[in-house]
Amino acid sequence: MVLRRPGPIESAPLHLADLPDPVPGPGELLMEVAACGVCRTDLQLVEGDLEARHLPIIPGHQIVGRVAAAGLGTTGWAVGDRAGVGWPAGSCGACGFCRSGRENLCGQAQFTGWDRDGGYAERAVVRADWAVRLPERFPDPAAAPLLCGGVIGYRSLRVCGIRPGERLGLYGFGASALLAIQVAVHWGCEVYVATRSPAEQRRAREMGAVWAGPYEEPPPVPLDAAVTFAPVGEVVVAALRALDRGGVVAVNAIHLDRIPEFPYRHLWWERQIRSVANSTRRDAVEFIDLAARIPVRTVADAFPLEEANTALARLKRSEVPGAAVLTIG
Ligand SMILES: [Zn+2]
Ligand SMILES: [Zn+2]
Repeated sequence: MVLRRPGPIESAPLHLADLPDPVPGPGELLMEVAACGVCRTDLQLVEGDLEARHLPIIPGHQIVGRVAAAGLGTTGWAVGDRAGVGWPAGSCGACGFCRSGRENLCGQAQFTGWDRDGGYAERAVVRADWAVRLPERFPDPAAAPLLCGGVIGYRSLRVCGIRPGERLGLYGFGASALLAIQVAVHWGCEVYVATRSPAEQRRAREMGAVWAGPYEEPPPVPLDAAVTFAPVGEVVVAALRALDRGGVVAVNAIHLDRIPEFPYRHLWWERQIRSVANSTRRDAVEFIDLAARIPVRTVADAFPLEEANTALARLKRSEVPGAAVLTIG
């Protein structure tokens, strides 16, 4: 499913195309894609909110599949191995960020389905050293949402600094928050969920939240930390206002229009707002290992590959209760 020109998802900007098989270069793997998660970032790219870096492009950055061929000099992978690839597709490996374990900040970083063709396809080429192993416990469609929503949700928990037993706010309750709450509950945190949708509030309580309410209603107690998942600036301010002294809001959004002006006293007492940018390979390995141990439950709402426009349109209208996943082959 190829994006040639971004446009409103209602105009079905992705087109089914029959392309030649991609060829893996040195250090790369050709993957036979089995499933690919559908993420809000894909929607932002397809609609043009996130500026395309490369057109035409095949979106999709939660790829689960099997190695079909390996390029020259590729180590650690054999044909038939199951592998997963998320949003980060590679980085330079030489800059200060890469050498200090902060490869997510590398200026040369490349991204799956943005710089390189992604997983809305039957086959995809990925860098072997950026592919991760997936525990058998998760079938292909269930593993896909772990790779972006899960990993970035886990990184957000780390960035907001939440510790076991503390009070955590989750603002927005989509696919990524559904995984983050399971980690937080596993860590013994008290979780407070803010979301517009009464159905999502109910679901949050079922999943262990001690409180769930709308964005504009403050939680009953001050929070030690919060993560915002909704790509809306007002929600960042709502989360900031809910924090106790010294608390951190981690903003899990690659695209946010603006944060509205707010009085300095909301930030006073060493409160912080931090953005969460991408993820590292270590985040992916740690989260996937933790996900298998907890074990987290993922609910995949499957769509065939050629219905990618429909899947994205339903994601836009908040009509996907779990995580949308394209199943392929
Ligand atoms: Zn994503
Ligand atoms: Zn670098």
